[in-house]
Amino acid sequence: MRVKNPVIFLLIVIVLSNTVGCSENDVPIPKFNKDRAFQYLKDQVAFGPRVPGSESSAKCRDYLYKHFQNESFTIDSQSFIFFDPYSQTNIPMTNVIAAYKADTDEPGIVLMAHYDSRPRTDFASDPSLKDMPIDGANDGASGAALLMEVGNLIAEQKPNVSIDIVFVDGEDWGKSGDTQYYLLGSREFARRGIRGKYKFGIVVDMVADKDLTIYKERYSEQSAKGLNDAIFNLAKKYQFTGFIDTLKYAVQDDHLSLIAGGVPAVNLIDMDYKYWHTEFDTVDKCSDESLYQVGTIVTEILYNRSLWQKIK
Ligand SMILES: [Zn+2]
Repeated sequence: MRVKNPVIFLLIVIVLSNTVGCSENDVPIPKFNKDRAFQYLKDQVAFGPRVPGSESSAKCRDYLYKHFQNESFTIDSQSFIFFDPYSQTNIPMTNVIAAYKADTDEPGIVLMAHYDSRPRTDFASDPSLKDMPIDGANDGASGAALLMEVGNLIAEQKPNVSIDIVFVDGEDWGKSGDTQYYLLGSREFARRGIRGKYKFGIVVDMVADKDLTIYKERYSEQSAKGLNDAIFNLAKKYQFTGFIDTLKYAVQDDHLSLIAGGVPAVNLIDMDYKYWHTEFDTVDKCSDESLYQVGTIVTEILYNRSLWQKIK
């Protein structure tokens, strides 16, 4: 190529470098399907409370395995035994991991949600219901439903980054105050070694409340401020009303296991959910529109690598 005019030459260089710079982003961002996602939420609730070690939990796990049984994913599970201090018995627990491998060796992204539901109703309207397990439509099923739909999108439109979708067991086991008996599955996941494997993680939990209110969570802000900013800026771009760009709660959730394991992570959680740990955490309190808002943002993060320039 011979260019006499240096201005034209400069323009050509700029155009070429832009093209190269964009090529990694060239995979179009697929659209999050809220109908499918909401169906996944209902399906999980229909199995009954997904209390660790229960038949409903096993059914839900089979459901997850089947969902990811396609050529885009490798499915793995992590089984472990938890000695339950309350019943003095061993409870078998299992994490389910659906791994998508891109054609690159760079660290990937980990997405996480808990698929277990709480074995008790802390804030029951009637004290006699306290020992009943909850439906966990929002607290449990919503996050897993969202990630199942993200799995569809990954299979349809292959991203340029490896992504592990992790469904953890035993997030919500402990009695109020017994923090060491929460986050059991994610702790096991981190214990098996995650340092250096992921650029960052996103945990979704309670993301389907009809009245969606997600604030910036404090541990997320400490661990991955850049990513947190990117997420809340996206919410503004889309004019999503469920995201409030203000720091509010510090939440003990599965992202703490990722952070402790050396992976910067953000937790997207609606701690203002009125029916949290009550018998009213049911499908009718949830909305496909809320799943759509959170799902759209998580999806864009996966496909738009310009949003990962600054994680911390
Ligand atoms: Zn919970």
